[in-house]
Amino acid sequence: MKLNAVPTNRPDFLEDCPLCTIPFHEKLIYSDDQVYICETKDKKGHKNRIMIVSNKHERKVSRKFTENAIQKLIEKASKIFTEEWIIVRGMTTVPDHWHLVAEDTASTDPKEAQLIKTASIVWNSEHKGKSNPQSQS
Ligand SMILES: [Zn+2]
Repeated sequence: MKLNAVPTNRPDFLEDCPLCTIPFHEKLIYSDDQVYICETKDKKGHKNRIMIVSNKHERKVSRKFTENAIQKLIEKASKIFTEEWIIVRGMTTVPDHWHLVAEDTASTDPKEAQLIKTASIVWNSEHKGKSNPQSQS
């Protein structure tokens, strides 16, 4: 399989950033001119864990961009996940590069299981929307 060459003409591209370089050496679930979706390397005890990433190395994206990305992630993740799953903001890894993570709500890693309870949930497959009570007030 031939992979794309790393672009030299993109000023936003950071060779040291794992999220910038993934599309050039890993298999993607989906990609278009704005985002790509792939499995996360670290499953953190989950059965399934995937993420959607902006093609550009940017921290902030528009509301419309986020909405489109969430729609796309729901579409792809619905075919992968069989149990309840959530979309959360990526917390620790690479805060400078915009991405969202989709994962099932169970984890065999106790630390991760604890983290899920306080995670900022963007979307929940059971409630078909936000499930974070604080954000509904
Ligand atoms: Zn990056």
